[in-house]
Parts: sequence; C-alpha cells; structure tokens
Amino acid sequence: MKFEELPTPCYVFDEGLVEKNLKILNGVMERTGCKIILAQKAFSMYKMYPLIAKYLNGTAASGLYEARLGYEEMGKENHIFSPAYREDEIDAIISVCDHIIFNSFSQLEKFKDKALQAGKKVGLRINPECSTQIGHAIYDPCSPGSRFGVTIEHFRPDLLDGVSGLHFHTLCQQNSDDLETTLNAVEEKFGPWLSQMEWINFGGGHHITREDYNISLLEDCIKKVQDKYRLEVYLEPGEAIALNAGYLVTTVLDTHHNGIEIAILDTSATCHMPDMLEMPYRPPLLGSGEVGEKPFMYRLSGQTCLTGDTIGDYSFDQPLKSGDRLIFGDMAIYTMVKITTFNGMALPALSIRDKDGDCHIVHQFGYEDFKMRLG
Ligand SMILES: *Cc1c(COP(=O)(O)O)cnc(C)c1O
Repeated sequence: MKFEELPTPCYVFDEGLVEKNLKILNGVMERTGCKIILAQKAFSMYKMYPLIAKYLNGTAASGLYEARLGYEEMGKENHIFSPAYREDEIDAIISVCDHIIFNSFSQLEKFKDKALQAGKKVGLRINPECSTQIGHAIYDPCSPGSRFGVTIEHFRPDLLDGVSGLHFHTLCQQNSDDLETTLNAVEEKFGPWLSQMEWINFGGGHHITREDYNISLLEDCIKKVQDKYRLEVYLEPGEAIALNAGYLVTTVLDTHHNGIEIAILDTSATCHMPDMLEMPYRPPLLGSGEVGEKPFMYRLSGQTCLTGDTIGDYSFDQPLKSGDRLIFGDMAIYTMVKITTFNGMALPALSIRDKDGDCHIVHQFGYEDFKMRLG
C-alpha cells in the first residue's frame, strides 16, 4: 500500500532508515570489536528483529516479558537488568537470558547461584554517581537518591565471587564526551575491580546515530577499556537504533478558533506520543515551520479531554482543513511501547515501510483491544 493510503492514526517504521542506523552501529562494532545489543524498551517492533539481528549482537530487556520477546524473536544474546527481580519470575528469566544483571548485593546473593548453576553470566550494576545531564532528573540514574546501581559506599568486593561483569547506565540522548566523563568516574571509583571482570556494559543513552555524535571518541573510550582492563565491552542503546526512523501519520478532524487557530487531530500527545509531555520535546512535523516562519499558525491538539493534550504551535504555507494528513517525524522510539487508550482512544495502527517505499500494515487495533484490558 502507498504511504498516502495508510489509515490514520498510524505509526510507520521505515526499514531503510532503521538499516541506515544499524550500519552506523555495526561500523562501531567492526572497528572496535565491541558488542552492541538493542534495548527493547525503546523499540520493540519485533517484525524488524530479523533485520536488526543482521547487524547487532542481540537484545537487552528490562523484565521477563521483554526478555521472552528478545529470546523468541531475535534469538541472539539476551541480557536483562531490573532494579529487583520477582521470585516467581527468576527461573523463567534465567531460562531465556544469558546475562543477568543485578542492582544490589542483596539481589545478587539471593539469585546468583541459580543463574551460575544454569551456566549464565552474572553482572552487577554500579552507580558511578556522575551526573552528566542537566535539567532531566527523571532520566538521570545518577541523580541523588536514585535506586539504580551500587554506589562505591555500598560496594562489597568480598561478595564479587561469580560476578563476571559490571554494568552502568547513566546517559540519555548524550554524546561521547559525557561517556568519557562517566568512564573517568567509573575508573576512579571502581578501577581496582575492573581487571578481575570479563566484561563491562556501558548501558544506553548513547545517541550514536545522531548527526553530531562523535563516534571516534566513543571508539577511543571502548578501546581504552578493552586494552587497559582486557574487558569485552557491551553497549545497549535503544534510541540510537530507531532514531529518526519512524513517523506518526494523522488526519486533521476539525479546526477551531479561540484567540488562536487550533487544529484537532485524530491522535493525542498523551496517548500516542507520551514522551513529548514527559521529556518534554517538540516533535518534528514534515512541511511545517516554527511559529512565525510560515503564514498560517495552528496549535495542533489531541482528541482527548485533557486540556494539556496539545502537540505544539506549528506554521504552514496553507490553512489547514479537515481531512489534511500530517506526518510527525522521529516517532519510532518510546512511542508504540508507551501508548495508552486513555479516553478510549484507538491505538495507532502499526506499519512498516519497506526499502522500495511500499507500506505494509503489521497490525490494526480496534474496540476489542480497548475492552480486553478492562475486564
Ligand atoms: C533505557 C535504558 C537503555 C536504553 O537507553 P536509550 O536512551 O534508549 O539508548 C539501556 N540500558 C538501560 C539499563 C536502560 O535503562
């Protein structure tokens, strides 16, 4: 089907653009020998896992369900980290994961023997207490009081028996200079124990496929740790895999006036682009301009009852009218995995645009999908 024929609202995941990102990541792997795995929480479009599997080493999961998905649909290395594991899930987790990363020494003590007996690798998440992001405390695992990772104050070298790797995750949409800063903190605090490990995981948050990302500094960081401590290095980015590789296609339902021009779309910021309100950020919209840039300004708004369900102010060359289609960019990551049916909003259809430009519907949702979760 053609792009113009897709039903709306609809997410479109672009195979060519995902592959372009994968090639950049694969280049880092080839030049350094590091391993890169997909953090599924950012992008779980498993119909594209066969493509991703051609370039990356496997998957990273945040819990049992993601771990199962990675195991079933990618079937390569499968790592897991959770702030705490449930006793009734740990056996299933161990059976589908090969690297199990614990957040504390108490979790490690509780479950590590089971994991080791099953022949799995055991890791520990450390907290280097090095905040490199300003103004985004909710995305900063090093913020004061954070529940993530063992700080040096609570580090117990006497309990490291069986631990083959350390894991840190401190970045969010950041460049490699912040990784370098973080690595210095990791070395300063945990350096004495690095050489006794086999592997280290640098977590996610590396915006490797962004245009201004300094890949050569990333590679220097990786090589330094490989050479100095003889460690296998893992990265587990999520965003970088599908950055700028998807769209949300919507239709204008009505226009409205209240001091400003308002357009109501068949989508919703809170339901279909939740990170937009949480982060917050302004989604790119194809063919539009900033306020004042083009002659016709509209506040683009969602279909729900939430007053704050607005996407932002955008300007256009022509007035908008009912039936116009609008295409938001960078809608592959942290969208389909976070959407809700608040107000009974329909979940957007899922589709893939192949390399020839043809679009294929992967799934369409309806009333039953809404009702099923409610009783
Ligand atoms: C969120 C997360 C990632 C992926 O982060 P991105 O910002 O999507 O690259 C990787 N590892 C852990 C432990 C995470 O919490």
